[in-house]
Amino acid sequence: MQGRMQDWPLTVDRIIDHAKSWHGDREIVSRSVEGPMMRTTYAQVHARAKRVSNVLRGLNIQPGDRVATLAWNTARHIEAWYGIMGMGAVCHTLNPRLFSEQLVYIINHAEDKVIFTDLTFLPILAGIRDQIPTVQHIIVFTDDAHMTAGLPGAHSYESLLSQVSEDAVWGGFDENSPAGLCYTSGTTGNPKGVLYSHRSNFLHTLVTMGADVLGIGATDTVLPVVPMFHANAWGVAFSAPAVGAKLVMPGAKLDGASIHELLESEQVTFSAAVPTVWQMLLTHLRDTNGTLNSLKRVVIGGSAVPEAIVRAFRDEYGVAVTHAWGMTETSPLGTQATPNHKIAAMDDEAQLRFQLKQGRPPLGIDLRLTNDEGQDLPRDGHTFGKLLVKGPFVVGEYFKGDGGHILDDQGFFDTGDVATLDEHGFMQITDRAKDVIKSGGEWISTIEIENIAAGHPKAELAAVIGMAHPKWDERPLLLVKLRPGQEATKEEFLQFLEGKIAKWWMPDDVVFVDDIPLGATGKIDKKLIRTRMADYVLPTAAAAAASTIALAAPPEPKIYAPEPEAPAEPEVHAHAEPAPQEDHAGWSPAARPTQEESYSGLTVLTPTLDDAPAVEAQAEAIAPFPAEPASETRASAIPAPEVHAPLTFGSPSDEEPFGAPLVPRRTKTRKGDGFAGFYLNLATLVALTPALMVGAGMLGTRYGLMDWKTGLGVIALEWAPKVTMIAVAAGLLGIIIALFAGFGRYWARALMVLILCGATFGGYLWARQAQITNPPINDVSTDWTMPLTFSQKMMRERGPEAIMVEADPMRPMDSFAYAGRRIADINAETCAEARPLVLAQAPGQAYAQAKAAVEQAGLALVTDDPATGRIEATGRSLAFGLKNDVVVRVLPAPQGSRIDVRAIGRVPVSDLGANCARVTELIGAMRS
Ligand code: AMP
Repeated sequence: MQGRMQDWPLTVDRIIDHAKSWHGDREIVSRSVEGPMMRTTYAQVHARAKRVSNVLRGLNIQPGDRVATLAWNTARHIEAWYGIMGMGAVCHTLNPRLFSEQLVYIINHAEDKVIFTDLTFLPILAGIRDQIPTVQHIIVFTDDAHMTAGLPGAHSYESLLSQVSEDAVWGGFDENSPAGLCYTSGTTGNPKGVLYSHRSNFLHTLVTMGADVLGIGATDTVLPVVPMFHANAWGVAFSAPAVGAKLVMPGAKLDGASIHELLESEQVTFSAAVPTVWQMLLTHLRDTNGTLNSLKRVVIGGSAVPEAIVRAFRDEYGVAVTHAWGMTETSPLGTQATPNHKIAAMDDEAQLRFQLKQGRPPLGIDLRLTNDEGQDLPRDGHTFGKLLVKGPFVVGEYFKGDGGHILDDQGFFDTGDVATLDEHGFMQITDRAKDVIKSGGEWISTIEIENIAAGHPKAELAAVIGMAHPKWDERPLLLVKLRPGQEATKEEFLQFLEGKIAKWWMPDDVVFVDDIPLGATGKIDKKLIRTRMADYVLPTAAAAAASTIALAAPPEPKIYAPEPEAPAEPEVHAHAEPAPQEDHAGWSPAARPTQEESYSGLTVLTPTLDDAPAVEAQAEAIAPFPAEPASETRASAIPAPEVHAPLTFGSPSDEEPFGAPLVPRRTKTRKGDGFAGFYLNLATLVALTPALMVGAGMLGTRYGLMDWKTGLGVIALEWAPKVTMIAVAAGLLGIIIALFAGFGRYWARALMVLILCGATFGGYLWARQAQITNPPINDVSTDWTMPLTFSQKMMRERGPEAIMVEADPMRPMDSFAYAGRRIADINAETCAEARPLVLAQAPGQAYAQAKAAVEQAGLALVTDDPATGRIEATGRSLAFGLKNDVVVRVLPAPQGSRIDVRAIGRVPVSDLGANCARVTELIGAMRS
């Protein structure tokens, strides 16, 4: 017998149907990628989503086909979601922050047929278009007018929508049909797909609507900063229409100032984001004395929320914080730290201890804590164990069965997180299983130490990793990124931790870094930190090794020693040239850093080594182009060349300087002298051509004979590399001809061709490498929280052709690897020296010093205004004579004064590090 209720499949199209019928005039406001704010309603979104379904049907998309989106949070993205899912296709959200190779893998694995995207991400798609054969159509969320920079063959969304009707049938399929697909970040192995069903999304929506979960209602205005491409924006794009809340979609601008502007202008009451976003907002609020007049509650998850953030929201801005935990595999919300009746009865400080935990499961989620043997562990609040989870919106199997059987015998999924459970059922994540530190058989929670350290007033971000230790296996190392302009000692941080964590949890060392890398989903990328720190040795480990192993001296403590080129016998080096090292931490060679990774961004500011040779060793070790391995190593690796007499065309007597040939002689009689000589002369000329072209481009642009597009763009960047290839081929052919035609006679010219080829090719490789290693930007600033802008006068100087001077642009030109990222973040990673300068002088004096530095650098002054502390100047590059502009701002600061510098080019090509060099040079000169 079955119940006698109506059959009403739980499919997500019903959510937007409901929003249209009962909250049709409720607004969705979006910051469009093109710039202006766009306003629409649930009724309009519903109608346009139907058009999306018709467009897809017209493109022959069938139920079950995968249709991807690579897009920011906007109303158009919501329309596409509902249009795709409503007709039974699967909405596959792509995370633009993944590397291109990962995107290619994911798109091919999912066999996506269509991709909806934003203008911002066209460079990414252009770079991978020929590697994603299943994709038949790319639809750009824009209108025809903005399609100028489009990818060949891409359609404009608005134009497609205008060609179809808004009559489309939705639903009518099983509620267990697939609705969405999202790949995990893939920290181990390839990314795996989580295939959500309509039913699981529907149930997740009902659960998140609960008062103790997201708890939003029809009177709320909701701003999901958390992207729709990461774990479904925590379900907000379903729950907001489900309750009829107003939605505010932030588009591409996620910096503190832009979010603050939206919070205030749209009177947002509820928002959700990862801690780093909130940190940026709080920094912005402090810097600008900003206030939050409507915001009532924020949900924070994705990584553990630092206490300082909860306190700042609560005490300074009167905003309640709900800490939540979840993962792609749990749709994503798994727990939330809203109080139960016992906790609610506690005082604020006691409640805070629970608020900082990840919280308790709502109906629909069941948790287990087990040891490695699968036995349940006590809910005592301090026993660590594996966190397992089960429920109707928890993954049962990855897409296409990847990873095999993933549930235990009771149907629980192992989250890969290590956690505790307390007597109130509050779960606390202590680590990812692979990050937890095992010290002397006991576990140390890196997250807990990080959270406390991040609460230090001078800290912006903190990360803890386990470093190899001969006695304890692993010991904690604390990495700290200081707030701009701050300086600190490691003792300050150790003292700050004292009493807040167990003594034996105390980090063995503190290292100050300019950047703590975040992964594609905004979490601290410990894998990258570990590879970058692979050659670092804790001072305590070196000491322990020295006292326990008398035979082999411990390796030199080093930071960022480059990867050795060829593995060889481990040996102790007097100084750290890039010679083979022991893998101290025991990571597999594959996990060791590439040279590029080793040096990108994570610059150690305070060396932990005090002996001069070791510091010298580091300096050598971080040279951008490490020396070749020792020649002995090479010699043993490469067999000694055999001596061959040359093949010749001529007679033995005049063509055999080294005696009888050891290889069969060619019997051809034709003398090749004339031709060989002529050819070698020609090859010499051809080998010189690329250099001549670049030179001509440089001089031509510099002296105004051609514009930069011709001199730099066409001649130097487009033609010269192609000619380089021809030159190298011609050169190699010349060598072969010389060998055959009589090496004795032609060796000098052949050698010349060889050297020129080598130099040309070397130059080409250098230029390519410089393009790869330098981020494709031409804008470097020491401050993006209060961006430095140019005066009208300077803007006139720059002229209408010059690139925009934006406040923290999101999209570096022609960027594949960096597309969609904030220039602020890229600056922090790639130009560590671009940091504000704090001087103990009065502002007037600091201004004079700054102006002297600008003049000394040979820049032409445009603005010299001591009253506002603004200096503007222009410089010209030596080679092409390209102009770049500099603005310097001197402001009073508690310590005396603070100087910020921004350097920005005028043409939209990568500056190959020139602006970073300019800022570094100026800051250096102002300091001295
Ligand atoms: P993802 O699937 O990319 O969303 O990552 C899920 C993982 O993020 C979880 O397994 C946790 O390790 C981590 N995570 C999510 N929320 C939190 C939180 N509130 N505190 C600590 N870690 C979290």
